[in-house]
Amino acid sequence: MSGQQLSLSGFILAGRARRRWYDSGVSRALVLNASLEPLSVVPVRRALVLVLRERADVLVTNGALWRSEAVAMPSPSVVRLKRYVRVPYERRIPVNRRTVFQRDGHRCQYCGRQAENLDHVVPRSQGGEHTWTNVVAACRRCNTKKGGRTPIEAGLDLASVPRQPRSDSWVAAAINGSFDPDWAPYVRT
Ligand SMILES: [Zn+2]
Repeated sequence: MSGQQLSLSGFILAGRARRRWYDSGVSRALVLNASLEPLSVVPVRRALVLVLRERADVLVTNGALWRSEAVAMPSPSVVRLKRYVRVPYERRIPVNRRTVFQRDGHRCQYCGRQAENLDHVVPRSQGGEHTWTNVVAACRRCNTKKGGRTPIEAGLDLASVPRQPRSDSWVAAAINGSFDPDWAPYVRT
Protein backbone atom coordinates (compact mmCIF):
# COMPACT_ATOMS: atom_id res chain seq x y z
CA MET A 1 0.00 0.00 0.00
CA SER A 2 2.99 2.28 0.30
CA GLY A 3 3.05 5.47 -1.70
CA GLN A 4 -0.51 5.38 -2.87
CA GLN A 5 -3.04 7.90 -1.69
CA LEU A 6 -5.58 6.29 0.52
CA SER A 7 -8.92 7.93 0.90
CA LEU A 8 -11.19 7.41 3.85
CA SER A 9 -14.20 8.52 1.86
CA GLY A 10 -15.53 4.97 1.70
CA PHE A 11 -15.46 4.62 5.47
CA ILE A 12 -18.24 5.46 7.87
CA LEU A 13 -18.08 5.49 11.62
CA ALA A 14 -20.15 2.70 13.13
CA GLY A 15 -21.02 2.30 16.76
CA ARG A 16 -20.43 4.69 19.57
CA ALA A 17 -17.00 5.39 20.97
CA ARG A 18 -16.48 4.28 24.54
CA ARG A 19 -15.10 7.73 24.99
CA ARG A 20 -13.42 10.09 22.65
CA TRP A 21 -11.17 12.96 23.32
CA TYR A 22 -12.17 16.03 21.37
CA ASP A 23 -10.33 19.18 20.52
CA SER A 24 -12.16 21.85 18.51
CA GLY A 25 -14.90 19.31 17.87
CA VAL A 26 -12.55 16.80 16.23
CA SER A 27 -11.95 13.41 17.75
CA ARG A 28 -8.21 12.98 18.30
CA ALA A 29 -5.76 10.13 18.48
CA LEU A 30 -2.30 10.00 20.02
CA VAL A 31 0.55 8.93 17.72
CA LEU A 32 3.55 7.28 19.37
CA ASN A 33 6.95 6.82 17.85
CA ALA A 34 8.24 3.24 17.49
CA SER A 35 10.13 3.99 20.72
CA LEU A 36 6.75 4.67 22.40
CA GLU A 37 7.49 8.37 22.83
CA PRO A 38 4.47 10.54 22.04
CA LEU A 39 4.97 12.13 18.64
CA SER A 40 1.79 14.01 17.84
CA VAL A 41 -1.91 14.38 18.44
CA VAL A 42 -3.91 14.02 15.23
CA PRO A 43 -7.51 13.70 14.07
CA VAL A 44 -8.65 10.08 14.40
CA ARG A 45 -9.06 9.90 10.62
CA ARG A 46 -5.38 10.73 10.16
CA ALA A 47 -4.40 7.97 12.61
CA LEU A 48 -6.64 5.55 10.74
CA VAL A 49 -4.88 6.38 7.46
CA LEU A 50 -1.53 5.55 9.11
CA VAL A 51 -2.92 2.16 10.13
CA LEU A 52 -4.47 1.44 6.73
CA ARG A 53 -1.15 2.30 5.09
CA GLU A 54 0.49 -0.17 7.44
CA ARG A 55 2.69 2.55 8.91
CA ALA A 56 1.26 2.19 12.41
CA ASP A 57 -0.35 -0.34 14.71
CA VAL A 58 -3.34 0.37 16.90
CA LEU A 59 -2.46 0.07 20.59
CA VAL A 60 -5.69 1.40 22.06
CA THR A 61 -9.08 1.67 20.39
CA ASN A 62 -11.88 3.98 21.41
CA GLY A 63 -14.62 1.38 21.03
CA ALA A 64 -16.05 2.62 17.73
CA LEU A 65 -15.61 0.97 14.35
CA TRP A 66 -14.85 2.41 10.94
CA ARG A 67 -16.54 0.40 8.22
CA SER A 68 -16.14 0.29 4.48
CA GLU A 69 -17.69 -2.26 2.14
CA ALA A 70 -14.58 -4.40 2.45
CA VAL A 71 -13.32 -4.00 5.99
CA ALA A 72 -14.13 -2.92 9.50
CA MET A 73 -11.44 -1.16 11.51
CA PRO A 74 -11.48 -0.37 15.20
CA SER A 75 -11.32 3.39 15.64
CA PRO A 76 -7.87 4.19 17.07
CA SER A 77 -7.22 6.18 20.21
CA VAL A 78 -3.48 5.43 20.42
CA VAL A 79 -1.31 4.23 17.50
CA ARG A 80 2.36 3.34 17.33
CA LEU A 81 4.52 3.90 14.24
CA LYS A 82 6.21 0.75 12.93
CA ARG A 83 9.41 2.61 12.11
CA TYR A 84 11.24 5.07 14.31
CA VAL A 85 10.93 8.67 13.17
CA ARG A 86 13.61 11.16 14.07
CA VAL A 87 11.89 14.27 15.40
CA PRO A 88 12.90 17.20 13.22
CA TYR A 89 14.50 20.23 14.81
CA GLU A 90 11.47 22.46 14.22
CA ARG A 91 9.32 20.12 16.25
CA ARG A 92 11.36 20.61 19.37
CA ILE A 93 9.89 22.81 22.04
CA PRO A 94 10.45 26.52 21.34
CA VAL A 95 12.42 28.55 23.86
CA ASN A 96 10.11 31.33 24.98
CA ARG A 97 8.76 32.96 28.11
CA ARG A 98 5.88 30.52 28.49
CA THR A 99 7.90 27.34 27.98
CA VAL A 100 10.90 28.45 30.06
CA PHE A 101 8.69 29.65 32.92
CA GLN A 102 6.90 26.31 32.81
CA ARG A 103 10.20 24.40 32.99
CA ASP A 104 11.49 26.58 35.84
CA GLY A 105 8.25 26.55 37.84
CA HIS A 106 7.88 30.35 37.41
CA ARG A 107 10.76 30.80 39.88
CA CYS A 108 13.86 32.93 39.50
CA GLN A 109 16.70 30.45 39.03
CA TYR A 110 19.07 32.70 41.02
CA CYS A 111 17.04 33.58 44.12
CA GLY A 112 13.81 31.55 43.97
CA ARG A 113 11.46 34.54 43.87
CA GLN A 114 8.63 34.90 41.38
CA ALA A 115 10.15 35.05 37.88
CA GLU A 116 9.45 38.07 35.72
CA ASN A 117 12.04 37.92 32.93
CA LEU A 118 14.03 35.56 30.80
CA ASP A 119 17.77 35.67 31.48
CA HIS A 120 20.57 34.54 29.20
CA VAL A 121 23.03 32.81 31.54
CA VAL A 122 25.93 33.66 29.25
CA PRO A 123 24.77 37.09 28.01
CA ARG A 124 24.05 37.51 24.36
CA SER A 125 26.67 40.28 24.32
CA GLN A 126 29.22 37.57 25.24
CA GLY A 127 28.00 35.18 22.56
CA GLY A 128 25.39 33.36 24.68
CA GLU A 129 22.73 31.62 22.62
CA HIS A 130 18.95 31.60 22.93
CA THR A 131 18.78 27.90 23.78
CA TRP A 132 17.36 25.72 26.55
CA THR A 133 20.77 25.34 28.14
CA ASN A 134 21.42 29.10 28.23
CA VAL A 135 18.03 30.62 29.09
CA VAL A 136 16.46 30.65 32.57
CA ALA A 137 13.58 32.36 34.34
CA ALA A 138 14.69 35.24 36.55
CA CYS A 139 13.23 37.96 38.71
CA ARG A 140 13.73 41.54 37.62
CA ARG A 141 16.10 42.23 40.50
CA CYS A 142 18.54 39.41 39.67
CA ASN A 143 18.22 40.09 35.96
CA THR A 144 19.16 43.74 36.51
CA LYS A 145 21.92 42.93 39.00
CA LYS A 146 23.45 40.45 36.57
CA GLY A 147 23.32 42.84 33.63
CA GLY A 148 25.65 41.85 30.80
CA ARG A 149 27.69 39.50 33.01
CA THR A 150 27.92 35.77 33.57
CA PRO A 151 26.64 34.42 36.92
CA ILE A 152 30.23 34.03 38.16
CA GLU A 153 31.09 37.60 37.21
CA ALA A 154 27.93 38.84 38.95
CA GLY A 155 28.31 36.59 42.03
CA LEU A 156 25.05 34.76 41.39
CA ASP A 157 24.45 31.01 41.68
CA LEU A 158 22.10 29.03 39.46
CA ALA A 159 19.66 26.76 41.31
CA SER A 160 20.17 24.05 38.69
CA VAL A 161 21.80 23.48 35.33
CA PRO A 162 19.31 24.53 32.66
CA ARG A 163 18.33 21.68 30.35
CA GLN A 164 16.08 20.99 27.42
CA PRO A 165 12.76 19.68 28.75
CA ARG A 166 11.78 16.09 28.03
CA SER A 167 10.86 15.66 24.41
CA ASP A 168 7.26 14.81 25.20
CA SER A 169 6.52 17.87 27.32
CA TRP A 170 4.90 19.41 24.27
CA VAL A 171 2.06 16.87 24.57
CA ALA A 172 0.90 18.41 27.82
CA ALA A 173 0.96 21.82 26.16
CA ALA A 174 -0.73 20.57 22.97
CA ILE A 175 -3.63 19.11 24.89
CA ASN A 176 -3.81 21.76 27.62
CA GLY A 177 -3.22 19.19 30.30
CA SER A 178 -6.42 17.25 29.61
CA PHE A 179 -6.58 14.11 27.53
CA ASP A 180 -8.27 10.80 27.07
CA PRO A 181 -7.60 8.72 30.21
CA ASP A 182 -6.61 5.89 27.85
CA TRP A 183 -3.56 7.95 26.92
CA ALA A 184 -2.31 8.21 30.48
CA PRO A 185 0.16 5.29 30.32
CA TYR A 186 1.83 6.92 27.30
CA VAL A 187 1.82 10.59 28.29
CA ARG A 188 3.93 11.95 31.10
CA THR A 189 2.78 15.34 32.24
ZN1 LIG B 1 15.98 36.54 41.51
